[in-house]
Amino acid sequence: MPNLNFHPAGRHFLAIPGPSPVPDRLLRAMSYPTIDHRGPEFGALGRQVLAGLQQVFQTRHPVVVYPASGTGAWEAALANTLSPGDALLMYETGHFASLWRKMAERLGLVPEVVALPGTCPQTGLPNSWRRGVQADLIERRLREDSGHQIKAVCVVHNETSTGVTSDIAAVRRAIDAAGHPALLLVDTISGLASADYRHDEWGVDVTVSGSQKGLMLPPGISFNAVSPKAIAASRSARLPKAFWAWDEIIEMNKTGYWPYTPNTNLLYALSEALDMLQAEGLPAVFARHHRLAAACRAAVHAWGLEVQCADAAVHSPVLTGVVLPQGVDADAVRQLIYERFNLSLGTGLGKLKGRMFRIGHLGECNDLSLLAALGGCEMGLRLAGVKLLGSGVLAALEWLQNSATPQARHPG
Ligand SMILES: *Cc1c(COP(=O)(O)O)cnc(C)c1O
Repeated sequence: MPNLNFHPAGRHFLAIPGPSPVPDRLLRAMSYPTIDHRGPEFGALGRQVLAGLQQVFQTRHPVVVYPASGTGAWEAALANTLSPGDALLMYETGHFASLWRKMAERLGLVPEVVALPGTCPQTGLPNSWRRGVQADLIERRLREDSGHQIKAVCVVHNETSTGVTSDIAAVRRAIDAAGHPALLLVDTISGLASADYRHDEWGVDVTVSGSQKGLMLPPGISFNAVSPKAIAASRSARLPKAFWAWDEIIEMNKTGYWPYTPNTNLLYALSEALDMLQAEGLPAVFARHHRLAAACRAAVHAWGLEVQCADAAVHSPVLTGVVLPQGVDADAVRQLIYERFNLSLGTGLGKLKGRMFRIGHLGECNDLSLLAALGGCEMGLRLAGVKLLGSGVLAALEWLQNSATPQARHPG
């Protein structure tokens, strides 16, 4: 057994944007005995979680569950719908969008990247990593593609490396305005159950998500929500697929079972998480996240630091990227905060390495858990010698005490 007792006294504050803290209720549910995955109780569990997932994705169509991390569900979305050599249009919002593109290349697809050009003069960071998907750029490119070579448009809904939540309905409108038949594939691995997401209404063909962010589960399961058009595409798509193939899974899911051994204990936790989300109500869940994100930004502004997302219309409700002044190593500050205050913050990813850290405020979080994270950040920034304009903690306190309180969820 590794030493899991490596933290000093008191609880550890996990403020990374996934995995997010797992509620005790879910941990207890996971400790129930593993049952026969072909038995009658399992079928009832399977049917219940599949129906609950449709509500969270806001879809009437199938949601496929994989015993895999989100990366697996990315591959499943591509492998089920596309053929070798197919052209894709992939919008670069940040590190996760880039990783999805690299995967597409490895699978023998031909992605074309569309991104906002240029870099921000103050920070030297790419503009495209500070703003949401620009649907007009997608529309323009699709209009040029009169031969319909592009088979799918891929975008990340909540870009976890930057803290930007893009407008997916606008992407759908852009595809329709261009009169283009491309499929719309969306990664909302970190957005689902924290940010409003509407698979059917937004006309998404495949939505990719995962368990360890807004759904509050440990890592280990991931999802594809699929449209009828995506299912039709999967019948003629020629990329190799076996484990990821939707058809057999969707067929067996009708009775609540899977063709292979599913992740039984994580499905117990999923059932519990779906109950919690339903009890709070999705609109209240989304409002809680927006409220905490706004309080977090109030703190960053009071510190005199820059939020990575530069467009107020697309701030993520899930996490906030905090850009540190040039010359300060953000990872050194993060490490100091971890060692002194037992608080984990998200590291800067890809082009943002060392430039920023990320504060997660998703899933099992409330006013006081956010204040704890901000308190650790403020002390750590000062200890690291970063000049702050004022107290972000006080700004957030004021913001929280004066803004409408969300309906409290009773403790698990
Ligand atoms: C976390 C995340 C992923 C990767 O998911 P894994 O579970 O780590 O494989 C992909 N995209 C986004 C937007 C994410 O937040």
